[in-house]
Amino acid sequence: MSHAKLFIPGPVEVSAKTFEAFCRPMIGHRSQDFKNLYAGLQPSLQELFYTKQPVYLSTSSAWGVMEAAIRNLVAKKVLVCMNGAFSDKWYDVAIKCGKAAEKCQVEWGQPITAAIVKEKLAQGGFDALTMIHNETSTGTMSPLAEICEVVRSFPDVCMIVDTVSSFSAVPIKMDEWGIDVLLTGSQKAMAMPPGLALFALSQKALDRAATVKDRGYYFDFLEFQKNGAESMTPSTPSIAHIYALKSKLEDIFAEGVENRYRRHDENNNIVREWVRSKGLELFPDEKFASKSLTCVKNNKNLDVAAMVKTLKQKHNFLIDGGYGKIRGTTFRLSNMGDETPATMRELLAALDDVLAG
Ligand SMILES: *Cc1c(COP(=O)(O)O)cnc(C)c1O
Repeated sequence: MSHAKLFIPGPVEVSAKTFEAFCRPMIGHRSQDFKNLYAGLQPSLQELFYTKQPVYLSTSSAWGVMEAAIRNLVAKKVLVCMNGAFSDKWYDVAIKCGKAAEKCQVEWGQPITAAIVKEKLAQGGFDALTMIHNETSTGTMSPLAEICEVVRSFPDVCMIVDTVSSFSAVPIKMDEWGIDVLLTGSQKAMAMPPGLALFALSQKALDRAATVKDRGYYFDFLEFQKNGAESMTPSTPSIAHIYALKSKLEDIFAEGVENRYRRHDENNNIVREWVRSKGLELFPDEKFASKSLTCVKNNKNLDVAAMVKTLKQKHNFLIDGGYGKIRGTTFRLSNMGDETPATMRELLAALDDVLAG
């Protein structure tokens, strides 16, 4: 029997081509072959990150690097922007790392705005800020370029940005916007198996890390820099993921980066149109709604759990019935990764069938 196709917002569906690359024979991670593989990825990764800095590969999920950013960069106090499950949790992680942290918190479904960030940072005492560009739990995309502009006027503050579910779906201009840590994971916007995180660091982030104590070893940014300079990772990486990444980057550049952005936009518009046609609403304000997934507000009082279950049983498609405290009052449809207008229409037709009973 074929597997259930994933339209949940992570992990998302992995193509046969990516899996084939994932399953290639291993090579030594200190071999010239590995160095060539690693170095060969850099130009395309730098283009996607819009940076001249090296892009590092961490064998961990995104949280590894999210925690690392706190441990490497926060000496005084971090401002944690919170508007959903992932960004809320970053505050707990900072506290568990023994750091001083303060909340910049809005309701789930609201965006973080430049104005509230400015007001908080103006209180002083911060040396870092964490921000989730696209809150996957609520389908909310905050206006990152505007926020970065505000943060740039606070030169002591390192800007740490999670783009796990928006990377390569919309342009995110690391160098131009002055982002100090830009990170993403493998299993969402990149449509690879879970287990790899990608990140780049500004010179400011590296200079800061050099002054911060207790960075540990596995996630020490200076270890990544030192090993990266020799086209290697600090410890044995998931080589399978790096093969998969090479394959995925080939796909992305064969399609064209701009075409990829356009495809995500088209996919997402098709879903939004369907939401309206059903008399449903978006959970966030449309102006701040994500382009890579849709968080639907269940204003029609649908039995979401039954809908998810029937969709799986009858059509073998998996969608998400809402995250945490908004389970059932929302549901989420992913359009990230390799999805196309045609595959999104297939999903929506199946949902129509389920809703028709
Ligand atoms: C899924 C997700 C994470 C956590 O990723 P892991 O792979 O579980 O570490 C972090 N941030 C965002 C925005 C996410 O969507």
